[in-house]
Amino acid sequence: MDKQEVLEAARQRFSKSDIRQLERAITVATEAHQGQARLSGEPYILHPLAVAKLLIDWEMDIDSVIAGVLHDTAEDTSLSLKDIEDTFGRDVAFLVDGVTKVGKVRSGMRDLTSYLPGTKDNLTKLMIAVGQDVRVLIIKLADRLHNMQTLEHQSREKQKKIARETMEVFAPLADRLNMGRARVQLEELSFRYMMPKDFSRTKTLMDHRLKKSERKLETVRREVAKRLEDEKIEFTMDGRIKSVYSLFKKLDRVGGDIDRIHDLIALRIIVDDLSTCYLVMSVLHEMYAPIFDRIKDYVAQPKMNGYQSLHTTVETSSGQIVEFQVRTKEMHEYAERGFAASFHYNEAKLTDAYRKGHIAALPADLSWIRELQEAAAKASEGKKFNANKFRMNLFHDRIFIYSPKGDIWDLPNGAFPLDFAYRIHSDVAAKASGFRINGAMKPFSYKLKHGDQVEILTSKTATPKADWKQYIVTNHAKEKLRMQLARQNRSLLGLILPKRRKS
Ligand code: MN
Repeated sequence: MDKQEVLEAARQRFSKSDIRQLERAITVATEAHQGQARLSGEPYILHPLAVAKLLIDWEMDIDSVIAGVLHDTAEDTSLSLKDIEDTFGRDVAFLVDGVTKVGKVRSGMRDLTSYLPGTKDNLTKLMIAVGQDVRVLIIKLADRLHNMQTLEHQSREKQKKIARETMEVFAPLADRLNMGRARVQLEELSFRYMMPKDFSRTKTLMDHRLKKSERKLETVRREVAKRLEDEKIEFTMDGRIKSVYSLFKKLDRVGGDIDRIHDLIALRIIVDDLSTCYLVMSVLHEMYAPIFDRIKDYVAQPKMNGYQSLHTTVETSSGQIVEFQVRTKEMHEYAERGFAASFHYNEAKLTDAYRKGHIAALPADLSWIRELQEAAAKASEGKKFNANKFRMNLFHDRIFIYSPKGDIWDLPNGAFPLDFAYRIHSDVAAKASGFRINGAMKPFSYKLKHGDQVEILTSKTATPKADWKQYIVTNHAKEKLRMQLARQNRSLLGLILPKRRKS
């Protein structure tokens, strides 16, 4: 990846003045990373250039691309955030700062095994909270993808560690953003490094099977194309090959029998609008016998991450079983690039597609994506792209607290150390005698702040007290304390009553 390649790709999409800024960023970053090399021995600048190229391919906005070029400068070079802000503006500096912070959060997690997989949901939340802007996470994904693509230069031990983290944290993150293509790339690379033998065995099996079925599938493809043309339907069609990793997972579910897997290749038909999608489905069902329990309407019921498409599996007259996926261009874009696609659309199409329901019918339990989506749609209504509207404050009512081991817990804003103690374990809370916060002793009345590290001091003789109620805000802690106090009262009564009888 060299400077010219990045600029060439950028010229297809950005204005002349944007390109000038990008060129300037490349010059500044090249100078800042001067003398630094990657493990491969190549000049370091090739990495940020590759990250920027990925972001261009994902059709991110120019600020993200520039931040991609500069993403390692604030941390690893003498360039300061102030320098970046002065030259490239506040938004770029904000993004670079976010990427740096997210990186630090991760390295703050120390031992990988202590936070995976137990706190990985927390990690995702934390990365969002820290990054504040979904673009920060997308830049981070591009950074991770390129690091995975060049993982061969790391030691075997590091390869395994990084691959596992990618599989457990970054691939799910890409999935939550519905960035299907990036997710598959991250998973394939991770799988290859985590389980090299399983990877090559599955890959061989797959190649063998593909060779066998390709010719037959080509017949079906031609038959369908002809019929759709006769119906005067405009469409494009291609074959989607299952990833090695998803084949591996599926084989596991069907006892290793590849004959039971019918979607190794699916034919994907992309059309202009939703009603044509349903029309194509009925044409397919007229031509071939549908297998009824394999018809899936992810338009009426999108997947958790917002994925939309119609799926059907049919049996041809020659007995071949073929899966079809039918969708609009918008659905396709959204399935491939997910949230990143909305940046491409934010100028003109997003709001429209959003209103028509072509994308982003997002379910409630992923409301954070919907909030992002709404913010994106709102931003696109204004004439000028306003980065502030993309800033997320989705966890504005939550704070993140570290245990001394580096585990992360999220608590409501205004929580006290006792809330944290009850979250960890009510028996620990019951014995609490004091709290050391960021290394210093603090009273029970101390209000926790974002990023505090809390150590609970316990003593064998400590007991829960009624006046703790004022130092608690979470319902969980209130409930536990109430139960503990009730139990204590009962045992106190138990002690007192027999005495009274005696006297
Ligand atoms: Mn990097």
